Amino acid sequence: MVDPILAIENLFKTFPVKAGPGKTVHARAVDGVSLTVSRGEVVGLVGESGCGKSTLGRLALGLLPPSAGRVLFRGWDLVNVGKEELRALRKEMQIIFQDPFASLNPRMRIRDIVTEPLVIHKLAGKQELDSRGSALLEKVGLGADALMRYPHEFSGGQRQRIGIARALASDPSFIVADEPVSALDVSVQAQIINLLSDLQQDMGLSFLFIAHDLNVVRHFSDRVAVMYLGKVVEIAPADEIYRNPSHPYTEALLADIPVPDPTARKKHILLKGDIPSPTQIPPGCRFHTRCIRRFEPCDKLVPKTTDLGSGHFVDCHLRG
Ligand code: SF4
Repeated sequence: MVDPILAIENLFKTFPVKAGPGKTVHARAVDGVSLTVSRGEVVGLVGESGCGKSTLGRLALGLLPPSAGRVLFRGWDLVNVGKEELRALRKEMQIIFQDPFASLNPRMRIRDIVTEPLVIHKLAGKQELDSRGSALLEKVGLGADALMRYPHEFSGGQRQRIGIARALASDPSFIVADEPVSALDVSVQAQIINLLSDLQQDMGLSFLFIAHDLNVVRHFSDRVAVMYLGKVVEIAPADEIYRNPSHPYTEALLADIPVPDPTARKKHILLKGDIPSPTQIPPGCRFHTRCIRRFEPCDKLVPKTTDLGSGHFVDCHLRG
């Protein structure tokens, strides 16, 4: 891996959770994750709701402080960097949110929404905001006539385009896209993925692209990391992970992808039960309570990370 723009090093994040009168337990939302994103690379981060992927996205942007470990952005440690440097780095890091309905202020005009980062970071004078706003809207396939309108006048897909325009305003180099299409109709999802893909190539952007569906990240990601209960359990180049999934959880997520031909036989690998609480992470392999392939050591021994070659790593006793 050459020249990572983002390096996450053995990162932990716990949250206190009330567990009864006078009793507090700790939810281990992110539980020892190391991950890099190279310049111009798209890393897909996939897992069920509650696996910690959105928390990891916010840690990657320095929006949350880690409980332990480090996040390095262009080599700068986001916890220990000075205020001035952090402000400068923030221009380069942006987020696209999941819900385009909730993420846009309904009382603000589109011009003010998309140019807000330019004002915050003092990147443009007042007289430039109309032209900069038009240019940003054009980049995401919307006309300048949208400038003076309000969010409620747009469809879900158009609002997500507005959210993307806002994320591009400060000319970032790294974007966390936090389930950017999961609130949209299936017919609109592909349009937004294609837009992000075009922008990524045109602007050389790096992405941490979060999704709960492996299908969504398939064509957009260079590498895919699969996260389960706060840990990355498998990571590989995208082609490789779809061709040769090596963790039973990845296999189960892949078996969940809809097959276009309804008569095609689909290998169903069922996930047993629900994802456990991050306040009670199972011993041994954290996936053993749901794994249809568990065997003798799984509930006692934590699997080590096995290097399968060509950038493919997996945490599973079957591969160790
Ligand atoms: Fe399943 Fe055991 Fe592998 Fe965990 S280590 S994924 S329980 S086979």
